[in-house]
Amino acid sequence: MSKKNVTERKDMTGQTPEANKSELSPDSTAVNTLAERETAIVTHEQAVLSREEAATLREEGASLREKGASQREEGAKRREEGAGLREEAANQREKARDELSSRTEKQLRDANEHLVIATIRAQTITDEAEQITAQMTHMAEHDFLTDLPNRILLTDRLEQAITLAERHDKQVALMFLDLDHFKHINDSLGHEIGDQLLQSAAKRLQACVRHSDTVSRHGGDEFVVLLPEVDKVQGAVLAAEKLIKGMAEPHLIGGHRLNVSLSIGISLYPDDAKDVEAVLRNADTAMYCAKDRGRNNYQVFTPDMNFRAVARQNIEQELRQALDQRRFVLHYQPKVNLETGAITGAEALLRWQRSDHCLVGPTQFMSIAEDCGLILKIGKWGLREACRQTQAWLQAGLELGQIAVNISTKEFLSKIFITDVRTILSDTGLEPHYLEIELTESGLMHDTQQTTATLYALKNLGVQIAVDDFGTGYSSMSNLWSFPIDTLKIDQSFVQDINGNAGEAIVSTIIAMGMSLKHRVVAEGIETKQQLAFLQSHHCAEGQGYYFGRPVAAVEFATLLGKEK
Ligand code: C2E
Ligand code: MG
Ligand code: MG
Repeated sequence: MSKKNVTERKDMTGQTPEANKSELSPDSTAVNTLAERETAIVTHEQAVLSREEAATLREEGASLREKGASQREEGAKRREEGAGLREEAANQREKARDELSSRTEKQLRDANEHLVIATIRAQTITDEAEQITAQMTHMAEHDFLTDLPNRILLTDRLEQAITLAERHDKQVALMFLDLDHFKHINDSLGHEIGDQLLQSAAKRLQACVRHSDTVSRHGGDEFVVLLPEVDKVQGAVLAAEKLIKGMAEPHLIGGHRLNVSLSIGISLYPDDAKDVEAVLRNADTAMYCAKDRGRNNYQVFTPDMNFRAVARQNIEQELRQALDQRRFVLHYQPKVNLETGAITGAEALLRWQRSDHCLVGPTQFMSIAEDCGLILKIGKWGLREACRQTQAWLQAGLELGQIAVNISTKEFLSKIFITDVRTILSDTGLEPHYLEIELTESGLMHDTQQTTATLYALKNLGVQIAVDDFGTGYSSMSNLWSFPIDTLKIDQSFVQDINGNAGEAIVSTIIAMGMSLKHRVVAEGIETKQQLAFLQSHHCAEGQGYYFGRPVAAVEFATLLGKEK
């Protein structure tokens, strides 16, 4: 029952059940008895009800209390849980803070390490960069092969030397050096041997001069020596003599004993020239002069040498004109059978008919023609003319075994050489076996792969091949014997040395070698009966030289051939 109902019952009687108990006593009147009883019963019932209600209310209160207690318990539990959660959250926060701080610490440590590494790297890079810069500077100023100062550093030192010499009233000497016939060695023994020879030469030169002097390499086989303080020209001359002597000792390279000599040009500041450029130019000119004067010597610059240098330029100009104006001619020198004296063939030798009617031999212009590339046109003209002339003689009934034509290495290695030979033979109608191509020993060793291919192409055409100036070219024998060669021409320097023991030994060896390889052997430059006798006694088959006849013009040679008939 609700509290409200209990309140309502009290309001209906206006009294509590306890107050109504005295009205049920036996002293009450009869009229009122039933009504009173009923009232008492009702009251009693109401009291019972009230008690029941109260009990129910108590029960409800108890259960509410119980409920309240359990709710409180629940609340306490929740609070406890909340506290746990807060604690956990606090822990998490602390952990997170700890983690964060340890992570930050680690990051800091890492960053620090990175910074240290980066600094070390930066330092290393700086060191490397400095090293590279130093290396690059060294490379820029030194020659790669010999590690000698190069042209740049030399020029720099020459400038300084000139400044100091001016102050101290001294002279500066500059020497241009060129290894004689280096090209032959390079061509015949290969670039590797050539490079080693250059390195050996560099060391020799350095050993011959003072520390304060500079030995530099200007590329190829050209070296320049700077003597920064000399009193007079004699100082430079002495140094040049020392260099020539020092270089003369054989160089032992790759099992070869190589002999090289030097051509030296000397120029002095301020005697010969007043600036760097002029000193360099004059020393170069003097060096060319030393070469012209037979190599293995030194020349001190004189002003007339400049005229020669200019003359060289003029020759080039004149050679071009000579080609246009057909001023080249061929002379023919007979080759003879040394047993019978019969003409076996001829060698065509080039001559230049200058406008002043002077006849100039090839030794005076061939190197210039080769340097400026004109040799290709001149050589082609020579080959065509020799074939045309030989065919004309043959058609005129003048028998000629063979016509030998000299071919320069530049021509021989040109891509169109074989085509040119084929075209010329076909144009002139000369049968290929009449033609013999003469190639120098050193020229043959130039590019052995291409040389072999070209030689075989010539052989396939039916052309003969001769090795000219044999014995002078440092050739590799294994290469030489693998080439399809028909003839060996013993160089005239050995033939002319026949009176001396060395010449005789070399000539007899070459003859024996040629015979065993079944090559024809031709001795060049025979001038005396004695030389002829020696060659005959060693069964040299053919010869050529002033003893039999000098090179002559085509008309004269035809007369010689006519007499042979
Ligand atoms: P080479 O081929 O060895 O020719 C022989 C040279 O010796 C010729 O000189 C010849 O005149 C000379 N000679 C011949 N017999 C004697 C002798 O008994 N004593 C002496 N001292 N010399 C003799 P040349 O005509 O002045 O030719 C010199 C070189 O020029 C030739 O040497 C050859 O290498 C080259 N040459 C000549 N004509 C031509 C050519 O048409 N083309 C090319 N590429 N080179 C040529
Ligand atoms: Mg020749
Ligand atoms: Mg020769």
